[in-house]
Amino acid sequence: MRIQKFEVVESTNDLARKYILEGNKEPAAFVAEHQTRGKGRLGRVWEDEPGKSLLVSFALPGSTYSNPPLLGLATAVFVGEYLDLLPVPWETKWPNDVLIEGKKVAGILPEGIWQDGLVGVVVGVGLNVNQDEFPDDTEATSIKHAFGQALPVEQPLMYLIYRMEQVYEQIVDFTEILATFKDKFKSMGKKLRVRSNDQVWEGTAVDIEEDGSLILNMEGKLVTLGWGEVTLR
Ligand code: ATP
Repeated sequence: MRIQKFEVVESTNDLARKYILEGNKEPAAFVAEHQTRGKGRLGRVWEDEPGKSLLVSFALPGSTYSNPPLLGLATAVFVGEYLDLLPVPWETKWPNDVLIEGKKVAGILPEGIWQDGLVGVVVGVGLNVNQDEFPDDTEATSIKHAFGQALPVEQPLMYLIYRMEQVYEQIVDFTEILATFKDKFKSMGKKLRVRSNDQVWEGTAVDIEEDGSLILNMEGKLVTLGWGEVTLR
C-alpha cells in the first residue's frame, strides 16, 4: 500500500477520491495531521486538534466493493480490533461510529467513487487518539482518555493498513466482521430515537442485514434504514 502523509489538507477523503479518479490502480492511504474541512455523514463536519488524531483515508481502486457502506461497518470493527489490543472496551454505533463508554472515539466515512460505474471505494477514518478536549456539542472521547496514556498515532494507522491490505487482497470474511459489528452494537434490541431531517421516530433495533442496513421495528412495522438516512439518538 502506498502511504502519503500531509500536514494540513482540506479532507483526506477528497485526496483519496482524486487518486482513484486519476486512474491509479494500487491501494493507497492518505494521512494528515489536520483537516480544515473534515467530512462526516450528511454534510456534517469532523473536527480535529492538529497532530492529536489519526486522520486517514484509504483509496481502494477497482469495482470489487460494490457496497461502500458495508466496508464502513467493517472499518469500524477494524478500529475496535485495534482497541482490543490495548485493551480498551468499545462498541459500535450504527452505521459509522466507534464508541468508548458511550462516547464517540472514531467516525468512519465510506464513499463509492463513480465514473461510468464504480471505479473504487474510499474509506475515511477519524480516530481520536490523544485529545484531552472535545467540541462542546459532542459526546466524544479519545483513546488516551480511556487508556490513560498517550499513544503514537502511527500505531492504529499500521493496524488499519494491515487490515485494509487484507480487504484489498479479498481475504477478509465480511460475514464474521458483520457478526462482530452486531455483537458490539449495544443498541440492538433497544428502543432508539431515529432522526431524519426534521422528523423523529421511535423504534427497536432488531437486526443489521448483510448489506449493512439497519432493521427497526416501529410499532410493529419493520423498516429498513440505509447508511445515509438517519441519525440514532
Ligand atoms: P451521529 O453520531 O449523530 O450519528 P454522524 O454519524 O452523522 O453522527 P459522523 O459522520 O460520524 O456523524 O461525524 C460528524 C459528527 O461527529 C459531527 O456532527 C459531530 O457531532 C461529531 N464530531 C465531530 N468531530 C468529532 C470528533 N473529533 N470526535 C467525536 N465526535 C466528533
